[in-house]
Amino acid sequence: MIVKLGGSVITDKSKKFTVKCSVLRRLARELASYTGPSVVIHGGGSFGHPVAAKYGIADGYKSKGQLMGLSLTHQAMERLNSYVIQAFQGAGIPAIPMQPSACTVVSGGRIKSMEITPIKGMLDLGITPVLYGDAVPDEKKGISILSGDQIVVYLAKKLDSPRVVLGVDVDGVFAANPKKEEEPMLVKKITLADRKLVDLLGTAGSDDVTGGMKKKVEELLELAKQGVEAEIVNATKPNFLKKAVNGESGLGTIICRR
Ligand code: ADP
Repeated sequence: MIVKLGGSVITDKSKKFTVKCSVLRRLARELASYTGPSVVIHGGGSFGHPVAAKYGIADGYKSKGQLMGLSLTHQAMERLNSYVIQAFQGAGIPAIPMQPSACTVVSGGRIKSMEITPIKGMLDLGITPVLYGDAVPDEKKGISILSGDQIVVYLAKKLDSPRVVLGVDVDGVFAANPKKEEEPMLVKKITLADRKLVDLLGTAGSDDVTGGMKKKVEELLELAKQGVEAEIVNATKPNFLKKAVNGESGLGTIICRR
């Protein structure tokens, strides 16, 4: 099982460096109810995104000054990651962070390769590896942002994950950004045949440097091509993540082949 905890859920995106501690503790308890092997990936929320945006990390290398930005973005993500690990430990999950920039080769903003042997080793032991969106060196762009969503898709393919669950702060994918339009329609299922709909989806807004919901769905459709189903659920609602990781489907938006 691959689980993504959206930055929009575990942080307050409107306030820099603010963790939603009680939400994080609840989600850790919900995840602890799943007893199979799992890898968790979390987003950047108000930690990674504002720092990455300030230094233009996603635009690639332009000047030496950005290198401090790379370092600061990574540090912001490590800070958030330490909150996540602590919450998991509190819920009885033996979690260990895996630094994406230390095990991934990125080229043109895309993962070229990732060393996953240590992840497999941890899973075999019963440890939950925790990765996150990261600021990384990039073979073509010099530097770039590796989104948590891209890591989700890459690992789901490499680890033959049967199912992927992504927790966000909205009920799923809407026909338009739910924070901008009044009462947009919730889309219960998106398949490879629905590519036109994806063009209508919005980004996450403000400082998001990874493309928001539209990019997320595009990544997940790539995974759907391989036959792996993903579901985007509202993790701000108690027990939604718990039910989703324990096999209940139809709680949010399913992204699948057909
Ligand atoms: P994450 O929690 O993984 O960081 P994002 O913040 O990148 O997630 O994306 C979730 C956000 O995308 C939601 O908070 C919502 O405001 C925004 N969004 C934009 N367009 C849509 C849409 N069509 N349907 C759902 N959410 C959307």
